[in-house]
Amino acid sequence: MVECIFCRIASGAAPARFVLEAPRVIAFHDIRPLAPTHVLVTPREHVPSLWELADRELAGELLDAARQVAHQCGLERGFRVITNARHDGGQEVEHLHVHVLGGRRMGPMVARLF
Ligand code: AMP
Ligand code: ZN
Repeated sequence: MVECIFCRIASGAAPARFVLEAPRVIAFHDIRPLAPTHVLVTPREHVPSLWELADRELAGELLDAARQVAHQCGLERGFRVITNARHDGGQEVEHLHVHVLGGRRMGPMVARLF
């Protein structure tokens, strides 16, 4: 039994509202959205965080999937892409994922993140 929730979503063992399902990456709606659009893009394979991401092709696929999500969700006004890595980055789910946030004006980075 796989413990990691995003591995479970990737294998179909746990439910998600998918936005994109590609061979190596998937995207699905966050269960606690912080914006009208809040989608998570994640590799199917278990990579703990950006710290461990050595596969440059996969890195490119993740960013390109974030772009596809933005297009699919109609975020032409703009959007924000974030990844939280490890303890000090505030990462809660230890399976690499990129947040795509949009549908409202994001606050200034300085006020929100530091
Ligand atoms: P992070 O702090 O970057 O690790 O963010 C983890 C994100 O995963 C949070 O925004 C959670 O709301 C989201 N999340 C946790 N479990 C699920 C799930 N089963 N389906 C969708 N999103 C989830
Ligand atoms: Zn995992």
